Amino acid sequence: MVRTRFAPSPTGFLHVGGLRSAVYPYALAKHSGGQFILRIEDTDQKRQVKGAVASLQQTLKVFGLDWDELHIQSQRVKQGVYQKTADLLVASGHAYLDEGAVRIKIPAGEEVSYHDFVLDKDISWKTDILTDMVLLKSDGFPTYHLAVVVDDHAMGITHVLRGHDWLPSTPIHLLLYQFLGYDRPEIGHLTDIMDPASGKLSKRKGSASVNELLANGYLPEAILNFVILLGWAPKDNRELFTLSEFIEHIDPAGFQKSNPVLNKAKLDWFNGHYIRQKSDTELLQLIKPYLPEVTLPIIPLIKDRITTLADATSLASFFFIRPIPSYPTDKSYLVTTLEALSTVSWSKAAIEAALSNLCAARGFPRGDFFMSLRLAICGSKITPPLTESMLILGKDETLARIKL
Ligand code: GLU
Repeated sequence: MVRTRFAPSPTGFLHVGGLRSAVYPYALAKHSGGQFILRIEDTDQKRQVKGAVASLQQTLKVFGLDWDELHIQSQRVKQGVYQKTADLLVASGHAYLDEGAVRIKIPAGEEVSYHDFVLDKDISWKTDILTDMVLLKSDGFPTYHLAVVVDDHAMGITHVLRGHDWLPSTPIHLLLYQFLGYDRPEIGHLTDIMDPASGKLSKRKGSASVNELLANGYLPEAILNFVILLGWAPKDNRELFTLSEFIEHIDPAGFQKSNPVLNKAKLDWFNGHYIRQKSDTELLQLIKPYLPEVTLPIIPLIKDRITTLADATSLASFFFIRPIPSYPTDKSYLVTTLEALSTVSWSKAAIEAALSNLCAARGFPRGDFFMSLRLAICGSKITPPLTESMLILGKDETLARIKL
């Protein structure tokens, strides 16, 4: 049975790279009916951020990444699991005490290697370049190196997938597997995600914070689809993947060897796509947090015109807030429109006929004329279709806005 894990340290909130480190192992496990484990690596107590664990769990749920088991390393510390393993290493001569801390004893003149199943190559290190890292601190807490090996073994992890940052730690882990006589899981390191402007993405870069993207009106489906393709590609050039479709299609051969660039325009494209997949009633609920007054008839007018849910605010607020009047160059446009519309019945056909007739009768240039009207009624040059907007506003409100 394939068992994978996502092992975040609660030192910050989920970022795009972290979400990828969760969704790839999740899909890999579920592809073959396996299990996905969430392991909170909170042994570095000083670096913890308050609320990070709860936020991580909540964010994973938003994306449908449910875990089969949850383990919290600080609780395992209390059970003595790391201490016991450190003692074993000391007893077998592979580790020693240094002022209360336990350090690995790196053997001289050896080589360690493994086959990386993501990068699809053998990687090796001479042990002479390694140093005797601390495995267990004097306060009894393990370092990452000891905890990750003990836990991947104890939890029966078959495939370790993690960010490229962790590659330099791998030789230490390989030695520990060897010293402890553990079977080694498959290990794979994902490529770094690059920021188009400034090199490697990091947790600190707000633009890649998942919660921020959600708050800015990106749909989970879009963020997930975007992240799926940041380091993995199918054999064909297919781009649209829901989580269950990704589970079906994931194949380690599709892991990319070159660093993907975070292309925000692509995320926008996915978001627009998934917004347009929603029914009007679904979208109504999704837009409400951004524009509480929004009503169902407005949705079809803006659905094709928004990239994020938050765009609804700029595009549709005019329905609820009368715009500050901006006066057209030719005042006769609005004066005559007011006259023409005051007698029409308030239907799309009647309004359009009245406005067209007016333009023709007066010889108004249509572009100018309709732009003036749009500005008076909606307060902006970029708006939903004008007549439909007028119908929603109603006759009284529309005429009040045209009145100079
Ligand atoms: N706790 C590490 C992190 O925060 C996990 C690294 C690993 O997956 O082995 O990314």
